[in-house]
Amino acid sequence: MPLDTCPMAKTLKNGQSYEAEEILIERLDHSVRTILVYSRPLFDSNNIFTGAHNTLVDITDQKKEDNTKGILASIITSSKDAIISKDLKGIITSWNESATRMFGYEPDEIIGKSIKLLIPRKRKNEEKEILDCIGRGEQVHHYETERLKKNKEIINLSLTISPIKNQKGEIIGASKIARDITEMTTTRNKKDTYTKQLELLNQHKDEFMSLASHELKTPLTSAKAYIQLLSKLIEQDHKGYRLINRAVVSIARLEGLINDLLDLSKIKAGKLQYHMESVNFNEVLENSVESAMHLSSTHKIVVKNSANLTLKGDRVRLEQVLNNLLENAIKYSPEANTVEVSVSQVEDKVVVSIKDEGIGIPKKSIKHLMERYYRVDNNSVRFPGLGMGLYISTEILKRHGGKLWVKSKENQGSTFYFDLPINHET
Ligand code: ADP
Repeated sequence: MPLDTCPMAKTLKNGQSYEAEEILIERLDHSVRTILVYSRPLFDSNNIFTGAHNTLVDITDQKKEDNTKGILASIITSSKDAIISKDLKGIITSWNESATRMFGYEPDEIIGKSIKLLIPRKRKNEEKEILDCIGRGEQVHHYETERLKKNKEIINLSLTISPIKNQKGEIIGASKIARDITEMTTTRNKKDTYTKQLELLNQHKDEFMSLASHELKTPLTSAKAYIQLLSKLIEQDHKGYRLINRAVVSIARLEGLINDLLDLSKIKAGKLQYHMESVNFNEVLENSVESAMHLSSTHKIVVKNSANLTLKGDRVRLEQVLNNLLENAIKYSPEANTVEVSVSQVEDKVVVSIKDEGIGIPKKSIKHLMERYYRVDNNSVRFPGLGMGLYISTEILKRHGGKLWVKSKENQGSTFYFDLPINHET
């Protein structure tokens, strides 16, 4: 501020008074204060203008307080939430714009009236509970409830209510922040309904799968028996013998799928039976490798077994795990010719790995592999299967106190591992 424009300079120049002019001053420590200036001319007894009198009032703190109040007031006005205050008797003392939008009352219609106007009959008791809480100095957070609009419509709200205190710290009322959650509540209710419907559908699907696999199993068992009888009756050099053998292979494959479906239903219902006994793990491995060798004429299965172990388990189920992993290693490596199986003892566990040089598994699919029905989308290449084997294997291993995991890179082959505790108590 140029010196000649400050009020005192002007008074000295023109002999006029200046009242409450706001100026900024900078102090020796460079802090800036806001000042109200009152400058008045002085006259001697002969009414000759002799000088001036200057009064400076420091209003910096008051100004700050006013600014804060202004900011708070504009936050309250522009808030999307309704902000309402009331005294301890429940009489409304302030009402912002969103409250008008939300409830339909203008401030002059509702300020001075009881908050009970907004409470539906069935929720009348809530006000007393809220006031009791406030009286104890407590806050009520995100309390989901219903309130009544001016047009008597019900609105779903989330309320946060806090005590208002005077300068002495006494509670004199409450502030209430209300958020309209009608849309959220409707969406949530819809979601709950859909979830229930989905659960029900899923349950029906499981029941259907269980029933269907039982129904399929019965005729298949008869067909299998007839075909086996037929193969015994036909001479090996008969033209039909080869065809019957093909039918036996197809039936065995169908039987495998139906058995997996049945196992899945039993696992879901917690009814998969285990016959735990002392099992020579080498025998289990030999059986599985033997059957896997019949699956492919191009693959060689190399076994490195450094452990000779007996453990407690279900022989058939453990064979099922190995069969599945060996079958997958062959199935998903159509261009390769070696599958490597390694068995070793690590502390009190047997660790088995089955390594192939096949198509591998994309990184993003690995975490889903053990889920029911999950199959990797191998673009246009279609491998037979229903995505049940790894889920069933995981469940069987879990029941034996073991686990299944995999390391794989796309186009670089996969290694499936599982471990089993040697002295697992069932
Ligand atoms: P299925 O082979 O009958 O589809 P699984 O549960 O045994 O079911 O396997 C689930 C999926 O995991 C398979 O569909 C396949 O995409 C992937 N997978 C399993 N083993 C291998 C493997 N050795 N190499 C590449 N992908 C595999």
